[in-house]
Amino acid sequence: MDNIDIYCPKCQWEPAEDSEWMCECGHVWNTFDTGGRCPSCKKVWDHTQCIGPEGGCDQWSPHLDWYHGLEEIVRKLKEEILEDWGVEVLVPAEVGERYLDK
Ligand SMILES: [Zn+2]
Ligand SMILES: [Zn+2]
Repeated sequence: MDNIDIYCPKCQWEPAEDSEWMCECGHVWNTFDTGGRCPSCKKVWDHTQCIGPEGGCDQWSPHLDWYHGLEEIVRKLKEEILEDWGVEVLVPAEVGERYLDK
């Protein structure tokens, strides 16, 4: 993902390559490798928690709000992720619209 910065929209904490999140199913992985979807059970995490112990703020933010960079590139990436999620089913309507309008 060239030209895209990933960091917490609330505190600007940047996940490391080996930062890890845990799914309800117990799988542990870097959620930004998969656009917020658990590679094991396929659950979509449309919100991502900042990792406090690694220097973050511990707060949850919309997964897509973590992507920053050139508007056009970020917009494309978000569209791809939303498509992968099947936005009409898995994201609350007002959230989907907010992203799709951009
Ligand atoms: Zn899972
Ligand atoms: Zn944070």
